[in-house]
Amino acid sequence: MTKLPEHLRKYFNLPRICGDYQYCPDCDGYGVLLNENEKLARCGPCRQSGLVQYCEHCGKRMEFGYTKCWKGACREERVAIREKAVLEKAREEGRILSLSSPEAAEQLCFYCSKIGHNNGYIWYDDLDWVLDDLEPGTYYLTSTTPCPPFISADNIIESLCENSYEEADVDGKEYTSLQKALDTWLENVQHLTTYEPDENYFFEVIIDGQDC
Ligand SMILES: [Zn+2]
Ligand SMILES: [Zn+2]
Repeated sequence: MTKLPEHLRKYFNLPRICGDYQYCPDCDGYGVLLNENEKLARCGPCRQSGLVQYCEHCGKRMEFGYTKCWKGACREERVAIREKAVLEKAREEGRILSLSSPEAAEQLCFYCSKIGHNNGYIWYDDLDWVLDDLEPGTYYLTSTTPCPPFISADNIIESLCENSYEEADVDGKEYTSLQKALDTWLENVQHLTTYEPDENYFFEVIIDGQDC
């Protein structure tokens, strides 16, 4: 992709700059580029608007259509602000508990984005040794909700038919019987359940770093 050559530029109007926008450096504000076949193509980075906006904090180009920057340090800052607000609300509502609470005992699995072990998912039975390995600090483990797995007969049949001869088709009855069989299979294979962090409760863990 190349910039619009000078002799074609006169056929295009530059957009009116307003607010914090600037002309897109990729297309010089014209919103279009020339592709390898010398055909007009839309400019991706500015989504053909010809305008871009730079983040006042980190100076990076913002994603078109976004009013806030979600790049690098800005993203981290926003995530931290959100986490703080979520925890403050939970504290006001009495949803910050300790690991010795009855609510904690009911959790099979906890989640904490600041813990590297198992992508942040910690089984109740592993709590002791996982917490033993943590750097000193305060951690909030959130409760999780079990999500039973589901296998859709539709998807299986669809991919089956895709690879079959042209008129391959399965009727309603056959769908239902396959779905039934899949449901029964899943009922018997319970260890496929996944756990999603639900933020209903936060369990506060303070690691003081005083080895005994
Ligand atoms: Zn552009
Ligand atoms: Zn930024």
